[in-house]
This record gives sequence, structure tokens and C-alpha cells, in this order.
Amino acid sequence: MNAHVLGFPRMGINRELKWALEKFWRGETTETTLVAVAEKLKQRHWNLQAAAGMDLLPVGDFSLYDHMLDTITMLGAVPQRFEWSGEEISHKTYFHMARGNAEKSVPAMEMTKWFDSNYHYIVPELGPDTPFKKNNAHLLADAQAVKKLGHSPKPVLIGPITFLLLAKEIKECNRWDHLERMTNVYCEIISDLAAHCSWIQIDEPALCTDLPPEAKAAFLFAYSKFRAVANSTRLLLTTYFGDLGDNLDLALSLPVDGIHIDLVRGSNQLEDVLSKLPAHFSLSLGLVDGRNIWKTDLEAAAKKVNAVRQRVKESQIMVSSSCSLLHSPMDVSAEKELDPELKEWMAFAVQKCEEVAALKQTSTITETPSLFNQNKAALLARAIHSDVVDSRTRNKVQAITPEMFNRTSPFTERNAIQRDRLKLPIFPITTIGSYPQTVEIRKTRLEFKKGELSKTQYNEAMQRHISEVVDHQEELGLDVLVHGEPERNDMVEYFGQQLKGFCFTSNGWVQSYGSRCVKPPIIYGDISRPEKMTVDWTVYAQSLTKKPMKGMLTGPVTILCWSFVRNDIPRSEVCHQIALAIRDEVIDLEAAGISVIQIDEAALREGMPIRKDQQQEYLRWAVDCFRLTSGGVRDSTQIHSHMCYSEFNVIMKSIAEMDADVISIEASRSGMELLDAFNAYQYPAEIGPGVYDIHSPRIPGADEIYWLLKKALEVIPMERLWVNPDCGLKTRAWPETLASLRNMVTATKRLRNEYDQQ
Ligand code: GLN
Ligand code: ZN
Repeated sequence: MNAHVLGFPRMGINRELKWALEKFWRGETTETTLVAVAEKLKQRHWNLQAAAGMDLLPVGDFSLYDHMLDTITMLGAVPQRFEWSGEEISHKTYFHMARGNAEKSVPAMEMTKWFDSNYHYIVPELGPDTPFKKNNAHLLADAQAVKKLGHSPKPVLIGPITFLLLAKEIKECNRWDHLERMTNVYCEIISDLAAHCSWIQIDEPALCTDLPPEAKAAFLFAYSKFRAVANSTRLLLTTYFGDLGDNLDLALSLPVDGIHIDLVRGSNQLEDVLSKLPAHFSLSLGLVDGRNIWKTDLEAAAKKVNAVRQRVKESQIMVSSSCSLLHSPMDVSAEKELDPELKEWMAFAVQKCEEVAALKQTSTITETPSLFNQNKAALLARAIHSDVVDSRTRNKVQAITPEMFNRTSPFTERNAIQRDRLKLPIFPITTIGSYPQTVEIRKTRLEFKKGELSKTQYNEAMQRHISEVVDHQEELGLDVLVHGEPERNDMVEYFGQQLKGFCFTSNGWVQSYGSRCVKPPIIYGDISRPEKMTVDWTVYAQSLTKKPMKGMLTGPVTILCWSFVRNDIPRSEVCHQIALAIRDEVIDLEAAGISVIQIDEAALREGMPIRKDQQQEYLRWAVDCFRLTSGGVRDSTQIHSHMCYSEFNVIMKSIAEMDADVISIEASRSGMELLDAFNAYQYPAEIGPGVYDIHSPRIPGADEIYWLLKKALEVIPMERLWVNPDCGLKTRAWPETLASLRNMVTATKRLRNEYDQQ
């Protein structure tokens, strides 16, 4: 039996890679230093895996930026605008693809989410003249490096079909037209690697999605070519993030030597796979969750391994993580502040390798290894811990009634009442919530955290920031104001810290994209809200102005999606618990006199399951949870929601079902194009399509904003159009923020004048 994981985190326990990359980009270190840091990390991570008992060590899973970009590089599929000479691809060209070439104003390649994870990959571009040319020196060097350390390298490639399916077609090009040329380059690479390793891992997570009709022939074509060049090296087809479902027969018909299946997300597929597994296939069992931080139930997993041993030859079984450990933090033993009791329940990448090794051991030793006993004790402690099940929360969820999901009156009636109360001008102007998080604001929060500032000092400082933000908005002439969120370091963490059922790591970083990492909160127990979370700040802000002050909350689906969630109850149930807590906050804000409340659901779209047949169920409870948070207020309270992604078409109906009074969305980057979806669907409520992109320091001109608004008016009735930026302003500096907002107001005034005269 072989033990292995599909990939390992790259950043290093102290995020060494992040710091090295950022220094390099700022021109503060040399390329040699960057490469040295990367080499050191790779070696360290291989050694960690080997020490934990892994038999095969992945190479090619490490990346300086992103493994999709590495695949683009390896295939030489460099878009023309980067002016690649055709020689070995330099770090300079590599980072230009990732981040753009500012000197020549060449835009970066696009980035998007890796399936339903929070990891972002660089989207390959396929145009009529995309070149394909082997560029695999790094991969070969890594395989040799592992051999030198005395271990077996297992190169990891992103499979050709997944690569093609995730690519973007440029200039009327058909992705499948590239299959043959691309397959040839893959073949050269596989043949080079075959000289150095016993297994090659080829990732085809696309096999866990709904495949288009062309995919089947493409799979057969590419993999039969691979077979011909792999010689005696074995090919492991890796699938993850779900079950194979209707692609099972296809996967098992490919001329490979083994298949990896995800038995965490696709826990029900084992029997199907076993019943159809060709006799010569190895089976890699993805039993340790690569996407969450909980200890595996080793006893249950070992039972599965033993069941497989009855059906598959020992030498053909592999034990593994469900997917790459890229999605998991590094090492739980490095957590110094986490409650030791909770820490016992968790396994990060290093511990996951140990779990995989323990599962392999079950076959070779007769007595239970000690890790199993510890594991059992930890699982039991978790199950009976008093925070995990809170009867008050359970009862509250039980007591949810159908009326709680509904506002009192339909939108049109509420709308009339709100107009009467709020008395806003046409094209009301607002912002999405946060204002620039200056060095001073961050310093204040840090000093308070460290205990260097008293609560009173901290409150005074924050009130000062809030009043400055309010003054600016008054002066600019905005209509619905916000307090600016200076007290929030992160829109999820801020709420998690005040809710029961959450805990936090100090070092549990997970790569999000490039050098960026996130540190998701952990939901370990039933959720409740001991105290009001935002009311005091909002009420203070409201006291400074006669204009409506918008209360600002993060919605339940977003809190869920951006956390590590407990795996002992369904996600939908956790989401309902969060929804009830946020609902109480909404009601308290209303009771405190706040007339407009925004509930951000930035992550609603990304939480969607990969498979179509599971999407409706998700959308049902996700929308319900939003309605539960907002359903408790009077007609006269205006509920806003904000979403910051652009693929709205597929979820239009669900967005309407959220029944918010006003939504704000990202729209400027697509030149308002995505509003077509709202037009086609006849979205019933009010909309603020973002009129400028807050991700860039560029100041949009008043003319430009005016024309975007005109364009929006082609599809949105004038009485339902709001004016706002694309997203929160926390990453921007003050000068550009003020200039941009001033132009936004100028554009709106011009529009108002026009319409007043009509
Ligand atoms: N209210 C949040 C802010 O303005 C929304 C951020 C987001 O959508 N990602 O920062
Ligand atoms: Zn946003």
C-alpha cells in the first residue's frame, strides 16, 4: 500500500514565500534570493511529508504564484501580449502574466476561483495563435531533487481536459481545436518525467463536474497518447471536489493505471467505483479531508480501507488526502493561542499527512496504533463538548416559522412606504460600507488588541474616524451614509469574534491567490449572539447626521463560505444558526432607529455546488437564510444587499427571491454589460450597479461615470437606479477616494438635472 497526498501548502509555516515574493516584486531582493527561498521551502515540505510516512512525494504542486500558471508556462501557452521570445520562460515573463506589465501597460491574465474553493487560478487564454512549446525544466529538476533526498517523486500535472475546460476562448477560437497540439506537448513532458518516477499524478477535477459532450472523446484521445509515451511509469488519474457520478464509466475506461477518488466530498461513490474498477487499476482513497481542518475519524476511515482490501490487491491500494492540501493550513502544532481543547480536534496539513500514514499502517500492524486511540478520544471529546451543542440555539432553529422568512408586504408596497420615510432624491447616492483603512486606523486596532489602549481610548479614536467619514460624505453630498467600518479588520472575522461557536487561529493561513492568504475563522459549535455587535457604532454615526445612516452587516452565507465549517451537522443548519444571530442584530438596529440596513452576501455565488443537480438545493437554503435575516423588520426599513462578482445570469431568479429592497453589484468592469441579465429577468427591486472599479487606484472621470449611468438606464427604470462604487473602499487611499466620489456625485447631478427638466 502507498501513502501520499495530492499536493502540499506552499507558503511555509511563517508565510516565507509571501514575504519573499512581495520583496522581490518591490525590487528589494534579487531573483536568486527568491529562488533560494522557494527551494528551501520545497525541500522542507518534502522532508516533512517523508518524515510523516509518505511514500510518494508530489513535485510540481509547489508554485511561485499558481499551479495553473505553471501549467500555462510548462506548455508554453503564453499569450502574445507578453512578447515571449520562445526561449525558457523567465520569472519576469511569468510574473507579467500573473500581475501585468505596468511599464508597458500590458494587463495581467484573468484570475478566477478554482472550482468551489477560495483559491484563485490564472485563467489560460486560448486564441488562434496560442503557441505550445515544452518548458518543463523546473519540473524535471524537482523530480531529481526528490530522488537526491532519497525519496520517490510523483510529478503532479493538471490534466489536459481540465486545463482546456477552465481556459478562456479568445477571438472566436474553439478550445478543442488546441487539443492535439497541446496533447503532443504533454506527451513530451510525460515522456521526460517517465525516466525519473514510478507514478505521475494527472489531476482531472473536471471529472467531478457536468462535462460538455466534447469532453469524452477528448479524454480518450489525450490519455491514449499518454499511455503510449509513459512506458512503465504509471499514470494516476486524480479526481476531487466531488464524486465522479455520470463520468465514472468514462474515467474507468481511460488507459491509465489508477484512479484517485475523493471520499470526503464524494463519500458515497466507493461502492460504485469498486464494482466497476478494472482489475489492473490501482485505487487511491481520498479519505483525509484536504479542505477542512477537522481530524479524520480514523476508525471509520480504516474500516473503509479494510473493506477495500477485501476487493483490491494490497499493492494496488493507495491512501491519501481527498484533494491537495493546498486548501488547508500548515501545522496546528504551531498554534499557540488556540484553546488546547479545541486544538486537539484539528488536523492541518502536517497532521493530515500523519493521518494518511496511520491509515496505511492499519494493514501492517496488528494492534491499534496510538494515533488511533488519541484520535478516538479527541473525536469523543469534540462530540460531547458543551459548546458544540447549545440547546438554546437548537431550540431557536426548531422554532423558526414560515412567516419569519417573509417581509410583511411585497416590494411595491414596502417601496412606497420607504420612499415616504426616506425622501431620497432620484438616483440616490451611497457607498458599499468601508472607507480607507489608514495606517492610523490599523494601528489603533492593533494597540487596542495588545492592551495598549483602554476601551474608552479606543472608542474615542474610532468615533473620531467615524465622524471624519461622515463629514466627508456630507460634504460630498451623498444620500445614504455609512460609518466606514474602521473597527473591522475583516467582514467575516469581525462578526465571528463576537459570535459564540467560532474560534480563531493565529497562523492558520491558506493561500487565496499569488502571495495572498486568508485566515478563515473556524465554526466549531452552535452559533449564538451574546450581545449586540454593531448597534453602538451605527447609532453613534447616525447621531452625527440627519441623512439615513446605513447599518452594515455580513450575511450568513458569506460568513459560512469564508469560514472552516464544522462537519458534524449539515452546512445549511449552520447557516440557519448564523442567520438567526444576524436577524437579531438587524432587529436591534431597527429598534435603535436605523432605517436602512445592508446585509452583504459577497459569497453567495461562490458557495454554489459544482454539480448542477445540487445547485437548486443550495440556492434554496442560501436564499432562505438571507430572508431569515431580513424578514423581521417593518416595511419602512429598507434592506440592502451587496454582491461583488459578475456571473449573475445563472442565479438571477435567486437574487430576486432574496427580496432585498436594494442591491448593489459589481458592474463597471464589464461596462454595465451584466445588467442585461437584470433586464432579461425583469428584476423587480432597486439596483445600484457599481459605477467604478475600486480595485484600482485610477480615478474615474465624471463623464465616464455619467455614460455608464446612461447605459444602466437603458435597462433599469430611472426610479430604481442607485449610484455607488463597485465595492467597499477599504483598500483605497483617501485622495483617490474623495476624487472618485466627487466625480460620481458630479455625474449624478448632471443626470438629475436632465431628468428634472423632463
Ligand atoms: N461592506 C463591505 C465593505 O464595504 C463589503 C465588502 C465586500 O463586498 N467584499 O468593505
Ligand atoms: Zn463587494
